[in-house]
Amino acid sequence: MANELPPLEAEIRRMISIAGPMPIAQYMAACLSHPNHGYYMTRDPLGAAGDFVTAPEISQMFGELIGLWAAAVWRQMGSPESIRLIELGPGRGTMMADTLRAATVVPGFRSAIAVHLVEVSPALQALQQQTLEPFGVSALWHEGLEEVPLGPAIILANEFFDALPVHQAIKEEDGWHERVVMLDGDGNIVLGALLSPLPHLDKLLPQRVREAPPGSIFEWRTDSLALEIGRRVARHGGAALVIDYGHIESEVGDTLQAVGEHAYANPLATPGQFDITAHVDFQSIAQAAESIGARVHGPLPQGDFLRRLGIETRAATLKAKAPPAKVSDIDSQIERLTGTGARRMGTLFKVLGLADPKLGVLPGFEP
Ligand code: SAH
Repeated sequence: MANELPPLEAEIRRMISIAGPMPIAQYMAACLSHPNHGYYMTRDPLGAAGDFVTAPEISQMFGELIGLWAAAVWRQMGSPESIRLIELGPGRGTMMADTLRAATVVPGFRSAIAVHLVEVSPALQALQQQTLEPFGVSALWHEGLEEVPLGPAIILANEFFDALPVHQAIKEEDGWHERVVMLDGDGNIVLGALLSPLPHLDKLLPQRVREAPPGSIFEWRTDSLALEIGRRVARHGGAALVIDYGHIESEVGDTLQAVGEHAYANPLATPGQFDITAHVDFQSIAQAAESIGARVHGPLPQGDFLRRLGIETRAATLKAKAPPAKVSDIDSQIERLTGTGARRMGTLFKVLGLADPKLGVLPGFEP
């Protein structure tokens, strides 16, 4: 009864029945950014009323500190007259708004900025436009980083890489087999693995991963975005900040997850209705960017990075101005952004800097 299914599920079943099993990455891409039915394409998933909350939505302090970081990098670059401030996947535009507000305290920086936003979702593009309107900056939207004109740039990506399609392979006695989405006898979408092993994956993996026991799962994304970021900062000047949940070193583990209405869901159920993400492998991003000439800074746990940027001082200033009832809110925001443990971002999230090697150590990454 395929005609009663939600349209994206019907389409995915049809694609599999015609073309055969679909790599998880292709399934994830369809769920998130199918032009008509993709999760991000039609809605605002962020915030207390949405499906998940990100750091900039927790507190203005996050975007403000990133703005001061960007201003410090701009100074390190010799205060160029013009600089592209590029954000990948800006969500509601909250971080960019807080960044621009903080940037005004550094003379010359704000007027040097041309904002470029890389956003696939028309719904979120419209929201970003609305958020940034009061700032009166020139802003342009693009569907991919490769569309942004070349030139000195500061590139920001918060919770962007986790939403990029991820491949999975499972280790069996004869090697790694790509995990796929396929149809069972009743036509339902189920997980499976291809019968023949991936010929070259083993050689590309770090030794620790290669030696994992049978049944282990390895996840990877294509290097193209990390290479593009690395190439830009290394050849045209500037730096990038990648902030996300993930692991510092490549390792095995199944981290594919679906989230809707602040709860975990089955990634195979109701495609397009839930956010699907996987942890970010910071080692692979760092290696790709380094291979093309960028210098790698960190990664550091988000809590350490924000403390080094002065989140405590910023909080004290905000608390001094806040009505008494709001003071404890600021404390709990700090705890969520920098603390350790469940629902805290301080150690689960990491911050990676990628930069022109001619710049010194980036702010926040000092040894
Ligand atoms: N950075 C924001 C939003 C994170 S959600 C924040 O921290 O609040 C992920 C964002 O990336 C959304 O804006 C989503 O629409 C966008 N996005 C996801 N996949 C994308 C892709 N392949 N290309 C461009 N934007 C994408």
